[in-house]
Amino acid sequence: MALTFINASCHCNLNAFKVPFATSKLPIASELCHCNICRHSTGTMAVHTVPIDGAPLSAESKPGELMLVVADLSKLKTYTAQDKITRYFCSVCFTHLFHEIKEATSGNTLWAVYTGTLERVEGIVNVGHHTFVAETGDGGLADHYLASLGKKLPRYAQEAGTEEVVHNWRSDTILKKESNTNGVIAHCHCKNVTVHLVPLSKEDAQDPSKWWAVPPRNPEDPSSHVRFMCGHCFCSSCRRSNGAHISTYILLPMGNVEVLDKITNEFVPISLRESIPSTSIGLKRYESSPLVFREYCEKCGANVLYWTIDPKRNHIPPPTDGKPSIINIAVGLIDQEDNGARAEDWVYWAEYVVRPEEAIDKAGMEAVKEGVLASTKSASIVM
Ligand SMILES: [Zn+2]
Ligand SMILES: [Zn+2]
Ligand SMILES: [Zn+2]
Ligand SMILES: [Zn+2]
Repeated sequence: MALTFINASCHCNLNAFKVPFATSKLPIASELCHCNICRHSTGTMAVHTVPIDGAPLSAESKPGELMLVVADLSKLKTYTAQDKITRYFCSVCFTHLFHEIKEATSGNTLWAVYTGTLERVEGIVNVGHHTFVAETGDGGLADHYLASLGKKLPRYAQEAGTEEVVHNWRSDTILKKESNTNGVIAHCHCKNVTVHLVPLSKEDAQDPSKWWAVPPRNPEDPSSHVRFMCGHCFCSSCRRSNGAHISTYILLPMGNVEVLDKITNEFVPISLRESIPSTSIGLKRYESSPLVFREYCEKCGANVLYWTIDPKRNHIPPPTDGKPSIINIAVGLIDQEDNGARAEDWVYWAEYVVRPEEAIDKAGMEAVKEGVLASTKSASIVM
């Protein structure tokens, strides 16, 4: 069987591999999973993996000389939730790389790689369908990713082949819920870290310098909230540190973020500073580029937030004294039970995508660019 080998690596390059695919099967249209475990254990809104033929190989393998070396996985950490999947991520930069799947009936082990870690995807893998869309409560990212390579993507409620969920669907639980006034709760899968996005004020939304505060959808309706600015990023730094082509963040002032103190069970203001590690609040820091800090749950590997004090990054107001003014919260952590995975009562979706020129999955980027534009247009018609 002819094989095609693709390099896969994490952001810090401590973990680098070669992964084999049967050449005759390429390109592979694989699943984009929206399940609660995938979202909450990565911080991304969905997880795109592709099965490989065999196990991961060491980067030193030389397929041309038939020298295949089994990968050393000892520099990866693992997280196993209530499923048959062991999730592997880098112990330094927290990039998610592999799923090891135990097949219940045969007892066989299958491996799948996170497609954002692959050196190239064109002609190798693309998104073929959405799975576990029902777990989002509101369609999640599937409502921004309608088609791929000109083909409408099936949106399965659970695993592939189950009943489909229509576009603009809402779960009964969410439809019946009364709108809350407390903002948004977000947590990693193991619940080591829970954050609270504190509502912005009407005054914030009226101040043009506060670009991150978006007026309510319906200003006449007192229950309509000032919204948090949110967008999908395609930059290589997000891709390589999350193992995902699409990374989605809410931007808001540090003063509007609280973290749950597990001892008192109360939310306290988050305090981030370059000189102080965030370990006391359950976070582990990785500097992905100079003065850009990404913070992860050490237990389940979820990206929780990132922030920068690089003055060139045009943050208003500018960072002071090693502290950021604005921080970016990973949208995959949003508690879907309240208002859905997109939390649209509280979140304003920017009608553009960030750094599209850095996408390596160009077809996926174009699909999301179109999808998010169409959804913001339809939202404005509704109001
Ligand atoms: Zn790494
Ligand atoms: Zn999943
Ligand atoms: Zn966690
Ligand atoms: Zn980015």
